[in-house]
Amino acid sequence: MGRIIGIDLGTTHSLCAVMGGGGPELIPNRVGTYLTPSIVAITADNHILTGAAAKEMSLLEPERCAARFKRMMGTNHVFRLGDQTFSAIELSSLLLKSLKRDAEAHLGTRIEEAVITVPAYFNDHQRKATQRAGELAGLKVTRMINEPTAAALTYGFHDRHSERRLLVFDLGGGTLDVTLMDIFESSLEIIATSGQSMLGGEDFTATLLQWVCEQEGTSPNQRRAVDPRGYARLWKECEAAKVRLSWEQSTALRLPEPDGLLGEEPTTLTLTRERFESLLERFQPRLVSCIQKTLNDGRTQPEQIDHVILVGGATRMPMVANLLREGFGKPPLCRYHPDEVVAMGAAVQAGLYENHVAVEDLVLTDVCPFTLGIAVSKQLGRDYRTGYFLPIIHRNTTLPVSREEVVYTLYPNQREVDVMIYQGESRKIKDNLLLGHLKVTGIPAATEEQEIFIRFTYDLSGVLEVEALVGDSGRTFRSVLSQQVKGLDEKDLQEALARMAQYKFYPRDQEAHQHLLLFAEQVLAEVSSRRRDELERLIDAYEAALWEAGQVENGQTWFFESRQKLTDYLEDLGYTLNQPPEESDFGQFKP
Ligand code: AMP
Repeated sequence: MGRIIGIDLGTTHSLCAVMGGGGPELIPNRVGTYLTPSIVAITADNHILTGAAAKEMSLLEPERCAARFKRMMGTNHVFRLGDQTFSAIELSSLLLKSLKRDAEAHLGTRIEEAVITVPAYFNDHQRKATQRAGELAGLKVTRMINEPTAAALTYGFHDRHSERRLLVFDLGGGTLDVTLMDIFESSLEIIATSGQSMLGGEDFTATLLQWVCEQEGTSPNQRRAVDPRGYARLWKECEAAKVRLSWEQSTALRLPEPDGLLGEEPTTLTLTRERFESLLERFQPRLVSCIQKTLNDGRTQPEQIDHVILVGGATRMPMVANLLREGFGKPPLCRYHPDEVVAMGAAVQAGLYENHVAVEDLVLTDVCPFTLGIAVSKQLGRDYRTGYFLPIIHRNTTLPVSREEVVYTLYPNQREVDVMIYQGESRKIKDNLLLGHLKVTGIPAATEEQEIFIRFTYDLSGVLEVEALVGDSGRTFRSVLSQQVKGLDEKDLQEALARMAQYKFYPRDQEAHQHLLLFAEQVLAEVSSRRRDELERLIDAYEAALWEAGQVENGQTWFFESRQKLTDYLEDLGYTLNQPPEESDFGQFKP
């Protein structure tokens, strides 16, 4: 039997881990790092590039690349890469496939199953889309697990004999999840969770980019439309400035020229942390209300929390740590690397599934993060009014759960009912999310109102199944939810499998070379003209050697020499390609 790996499929980065003898271990990717950028690119000759190489390409040819597609999971949004189009499911599947290949190369075994993490607040469409992406990548998705639950599993795995109430604050690139949990005698119990699906580090970068555009008298949309390369470079500069402001009080943000290049002495904008934080003030109420909602649901006061745990890249921002310090009266805890803790938790979950000896005494219970129910009519006064929400599974109910409600036909001889299925907290369906519907037909003709039993079953991966049983006839109807989203039914799966099969990945052993080439080309856009000629000469030599390597005798020697010369020169210029993976720096990481 192959191994089951844990995958943190993130908005900006993804990671893989596996359960080793002593605990979860991260798996390095093809370029030797743990974090794989969640970016997919398509080369001019229709080869798929992912990760680090695709990230470099996104600056040179942004129109051939897609990033942040996780935010569009479960929607019908279409991404255009070159002259091809892809759904978010297809892009995620390409990324998953390349992570699978990296894991297979590292572990030396076939990987056919995975535990994939999703934001706790992912709705049914988004979860089914993630599962489908796994299937398209040739992976059986053994379990989907909520990201904060995975983070908590890492803490629980290492600290299982303590007795604590923890609040996991998970702010990644695209989503915020806040989860309350108890650890008690090797049992991890999720008590409450809530979140926001469009709030994360990418929104902070977008806010900064918007501010920069305003200073220049333009807008992000305008800028992107006229100058996609310049926009991609500006995004990168804003992201870098944002990250620097986590350590520095003030920074100079470099402004690319309209062609996307950075001049020899680029124009800069000075930005202080204070100013940046004032731009982000509008996000504060959403962060606070999410924490408050979780505490209320878990009937917990801030002072009852033993530790606040940070997860996700954006929690490195001092603004976030300060907010939590003030709210809870103690500094948040960051014992495990916030970028890595989710993937490691996914590996612990995979270990639970495999009955791994290292986790045999660990027990985990999770909850349903939102309320699920159906649309009903209500009798108000003498009239029936439509559009009301009848909850069937309430949020924060422990999983797995199966609940039944009885509803009635509205008028005599009503022969069919369309059961509309919703997720949300509002009493009116117009403010909740429609997940799908279930047509119940063949109801026996009767003068009396007829009973229909509606059963909701929500499994450990957070996937919903709805059944309707017509009282007298004994007929059962089962849901096929998600008609709202393309790509999720069985016919779509077969079509997508055939479509995806036509794309070939860039040869894995050459992707690292392509990565260096793209990285060097990108540096070329930044260096002074004095250095440019020499760098260009080295890039040309490397490109020629790459081609020759497989063709002529001694090609390999020439290839390695030219690679070394190019890397040395880049290092002289102050540019280093990825660092090799290091052991996780547990305990030393400081937000
Ligand atoms: P994740 O999805 O957990 O990988 O988080 C990625 C997000 O965290 C991105 O928006 C990054 O820009 C952001 N991020 C990573 N490191 C930092 C940092 N030091 N300061 C601010 N934001 C960061």
